[in-house]
Amino acid sequence: MAEPKKLFIKTYGCQMNVYDSERMAEALGGQGYEQTSSPEDADMILLNTCHIREKAAEKVYSELGRFKGLKAEKPDLKIGVAGCVAQAEGAEIMRRQPMVDLVVGPQSYHRLPELEARTRAGQKALDTDFPQEDKFEHLRSRPKAKRGPTAFLTVQEGCDKFCAFCVVPYTRGAEVSRPVERVVTEARDLVERGVREITLLGQNVNAYHGAGPDGADWSLAQLIWELDKVDGLERIRFTTSHPNDMTDDLIEAHGTCAKLMPYLHLPVQAGSDRILKRMNRAHTAESYVRLIEKIRAARPDILISGDFIVGFPEETAADFQSTMDLVAEVKYGSAYSFKYSTRPGTPAAERDQVPEAEKTDRLHRLQALLTTQQRAAQDKMVNKTVGVLFERPGRLPGQMVGKSDHLHAVHVADCTADAGTLAKVRIISSEANSLAGALIG
Ligand code: SF4
Repeated sequence: MAEPKKLFIKTYGCQMNVYDSERMAEALGGQGYEQTSSPEDADMILLNTCHIREKAAEKVYSELGRFKGLKAEKPDLKIGVAGCVAQAEGAEIMRRQPMVDLVVGPQSYHRLPELEARTRAGQKALDTDFPQEDKFEHLRSRPKAKRGPTAFLTVQEGCDKFCAFCVVPYTRGAEVSRPVERVVTEARDLVERGVREITLLGQNVNAYHGAGPDGADWSLAQLIWELDKVDGLERIRFTTSHPNDMTDDLIEAHGTCAKLMPYLHLPVQAGSDRILKRMNRAHTAESYVRLIEKIRAARPDILISGDFIVGFPEETAADFQSTMDLVAEVKYGSAYSFKYSTRPGTPAAERDQVPEAEKTDRLHRLQALLTTQQRAAQDKMVNKTVGVLFERPGRLPGQMVGKSDHLHAVHVADCTADAGTLAKVRIISSEANSLAGALIG
C-alpha cells in the first residue's frame, strides 16, 4: 500500500475559496493525497488565491518565493497556484516563478487529478479555461467522514454586474447556478456528516436561478424552501447578495422561514448616488434604504451587514458624507469596509485616484461609526435568550463557543453542550466582538 502523499493548501480571500479548497483537497484525495498543515511535510503545495485587493498578485509571488528553499531540498515537491490570481495571471505565473508546476483557475479545478498527473510526468500544467462542462458534475462525490456543524455550499458562481472596481466577472466568469437537486443532495450529505448549518454561497447568490425538478428556473427563495425540508438541517444562511436581486419571495422567506437566519449581508459600497453610478451599482442610496425598510418590515429583528469602499475614484468629501449619512440611517449590525484599491483591467483603475491620506482618514471615520453601531447591536442582546449553535471549545477550560442566529460570536463558560448542539442561551454581557452567555436548561 503506497504511502499517502501530503497536500498543503493555503486559502486566501472569500468563503467561496474556502469551499473550493475543500473540493480541491477532495479531488486530490483520489490521487492518494491527504492534507497536512505544514508545508515542510508536503509533496504538493497549493495556494488558493484571491484577486480582490491591490498587490494581490505580488503577494502570491512573494509567498511562492518562500517555498524556493523547500523545492531545492525536495525536487519532487509540486507547487500549484489556484483561485482568482491563477485565473487572472495564468502562464505569467510560470514565467515569473519557473518553480511553479501547476496553475489552475476556479472554473477548472475538477481537472486537478489529470493536471497533477501531468506534473508527475515532469510536464507543466496550466488550465484557466471556462469549461463548458459543469465542474460540479465532474468533481468526486464528497467523502462520508464526520465534520463540524457548519458548512459552506456553493450554489451560484460568477457575476454579470461588472461593478467598475471589481475583478470577479473577469476571474469567475458569467453567472452560473447549480441545479436545485444537486444542491439539495449535497446538503443532505453534509447533514449526514454532522452539519446543522449551511451557508449558501455565490458571488451574487440572490441572483440564483437554478434548474428546478420541474425544469423551470428556481429562485434562491424556492431553493431555501426546498432545503427547509431537509431533516437535521437547522439553519440556513446565504452570502453575498446584490440589492437589485433581493426579490419579494426572498424578503418574504426572511419573514416566514424559521430555518432562514435573521442575518443579511447586503453590500451597498457607497451612499452617494453619483458614486454609485460611477461604480455601476445600478441602484440609488434611496432605493437601497427603501429596500432595507421592506426587509425589516418582513423580519424586524434582522441584522443587516454591509460592505463599503471609501476613496473610490473622484469621491468628494460631500460624496463621502453621503456614505456616512446612509450608514447613520441604516444602522448596521456588522460591516466590512476598505479603501478603494486599483484592480488592473477594471474601468475604475484608469480614473483620477483619491489621495491615500484622504482615503485613510475617511476609512477611520467610517469604521468608528460602524464600530459604534456594531456594538449597539450586540448590547441589545444582553438579557435576551438566543439560539446558539456551538462549534468548538473556547480558550478557557469548560468554555464553548458558537454563533447566535444573528451571527454574533457567543461564548459560554462551564458549558455542558457539545459541538453541534443548538441550544438556548441567556446573554449576560456584551464584549468587544462577542457576547457572553449562560446555557438555559
Ligand atoms: S456584484 Fe459583487 S461580485 Fe459582482 S461585480 Fe459587483 S462587486 Fe463584483
